[in-house]
Amino acid sequence: MTMLDKDLSYKLYSDEIIYRPPPESESILLQVAVGCSYSECTFCREQAHHRFKAYPLGEVEEKIAILASLPENKHKTELFFVGENCMVLPTQHLVAILQAVHELLPQVQHINMYARAVEILKKGRADLSLLRDLGVSSLYVGVESGSDRILENCRKGETVAQMLEALQLLDQLGLTYSLSSIIGLGGEELSWENATKTAEFYNQVHPWSIRLMTLSPEKGTTMAADIAAGRFHQLPPWKTILEERLLLEKLEVEDCLVYGNHFSNLLPLVAKWRQDQETVLEKMDEIICSLQPELVHSKDFDHM
Ligand code: SF4
Repeated sequence: MTMLDKDLSYKLYSDEIIYRPPPESESILLQVAVGCSYSECTFCREQAHHRFKAYPLGEVEEKIAILASLPENKHKTELFFVGENCMVLPTQHLVAILQAVHELLPQVQHINMYARAVEILKKGRADLSLLRDLGVSSLYVGVESGSDRILENCRKGETVAQMLEALQLLDQLGLTYSLSSIIGLGGEELSWENATKTAEFYNQVHPWSIRLMTLSPEKGTTMAADIAAGRFHQLPPWKTILEERLLLEKLEVEDCLVYGNHFSNLLPLVAKWRQDQETVLEKMDEIICSLQPELVHSKDFDHM
């Protein structure tokens, strides 16, 4: 928001840093909620804050009016709801916001947001269809891992089966979705499981994009405390590269953008899958081969 003056930014957003996925870099950013209604995942900054609140409709309408008055938004057709789990908001509240968006920003055609899989399931077919008909197009769903054991360990509050069911419902309704997962979420012990099960999960669904991040828990989270106390064995950086390579080797999704450009990632990656798969793996192999041999023991490659 470097283009906005401080007063305007204060009226529009709760924080100086606005969290939005990379594909939304050109979208109008409308904050409808602060934080996450769940806030239990042990690795997530929201666990440290527990600060969820939804803005009342009147405040959201004021924000939309401000956004509509900004010349840089005049021709933008994509809008993103800022808030970590906007799908949890009551359907009627979302409907009222969507109607206000169309009234004040009539050029907007696609409205996208973060959503937990369990909230997608709670909304169900009828409410999702209603939201879709009002312009909701694409949802960003944090998968984090395709392993139930790892999801349970990090208190994700969702199972692989629930996530699969939610994404299959989106497929049926013609809603697109982008997914994300975390390299290193299983620690040293479950690194192989995290890579293979997450790739296996991705291969069963049809994401528009996949974002790979690397575990980097903030101070104040359970995960950070577990690492400090030696209860969770975080992967050293070079092993995150091995885990990422294994996941990418097993990844068979078609027509999908794969991003690994989060600040937490060691290797920047933006690739089209599967056409770029071979090139990406070759480059990763070059990097792995250039690592100090004493770091990379042959047993670490056994699974690859
Ligand atoms: S990872 Fe997602 S669902 Fe879990 S607490 Fe953070 S924002 Fe909420």
